[in-house]
Amino acid sequence: MSFSSNTKAELCRDFINKKCCALAEACGVLLYSSAVSTEQIRIVTENPEFANRLPNLFNRAFHVEFDERQNAAKSTFLIRDREKIQTIFRAIGYSPSDSVTLHVNYGLLEKECCIRSFLRGAFLSGGSVTDPEKRYHLELSTNHHKVSRETYSLLLEQGFSPKDTLRNGCSILYFKQSEAIEDFLAFLGAPIASMGIMEAKIEKEMKNKINRIVNCDNANTSKVVEAAQTQIAAIRTLRERGQYESLPEKLKQTAELREQNPEANLSELASLFDPPLTKSALNHRLRKLTELAAEE
Ligand SMILES: [Zn+2]
Repeated sequence: MSFSSNTKAELCRDFINKKCCALAEACGVLLYSSAVSTEQIRIVTENPEFANRLPNLFNRAFHVEFDERQNAAKSTFLIRDREKIQTIFRAIGYSPSDSVTLHVNYGLLEKECCIRSFLRGAFLSGGSVTDPEKRYHLELSTNHHKVSRETYSLLLEQGFSPKDTLRNGCSILYFKQSEAIEDFLAFLGAPIASMGIMEAKIEKEMKNKINRIVNCDNANTSKVVEAAQTQIAAIRTLRERGQYESLPEKLKQTAELREQNPEANLSELASLFDPPLTKSALNHRLRKLTELAAEE
């Protein structure tokens, strides 16, 4: 099951209770369905929970039953009966003789419970949310452009700030930020999905942090190795030139320990002296060796 279908399943667990909310939710479903006209109402979904909810929802909202239900990979719900379509249009405040385009009837959305229900219906019908492990994206898509603009205003009033775009003739409102998606899902009534977004984000941040530490360690390790190689090359040069034997005892001892411990970092190497050296004293001696080797 995809993250999106789990989210819809969670939303559908919410019992259809108040008549006002049933009407608002059904309105969201219709306005976010692609095929709504005076000829027919067709709602298509691949989500089984939403498919189970739809007949009850329409019954509660409009006292209307679907004329036909086709079950395949997707479920299709059809109403062709003119009278039923009239009843539904009247209930959502849409009269085809006055207006050619569908629009959001704000009169149905005066209470917060109803706004929530409307947006839930819109999401169940025309929405999707991407698995947060892949990326953060939630969208509401409808081919009724006026509806999209009105939903945009509705979301703004609720404190959400979606982005909008057009894709394949559909108006799309979307969120790309994890916090906005968390808040929106929680508002719709899907706290588990909201938590899922939050958890995915924490996990990602953790992974990034670990990667940073590992990369940083690698970078340090390679610096240590590089420095040691330079020092060992310098010691070899001094030997080849016959300068080694005449070095002060302190430098000879340092050269010897460096050659024997090519992978030790500064503090590890310093601790091998008896008594141990400070890092700065050791650093000073190693620098001296490379400087001598660099002299002609
Ligand atoms: Zn309500």
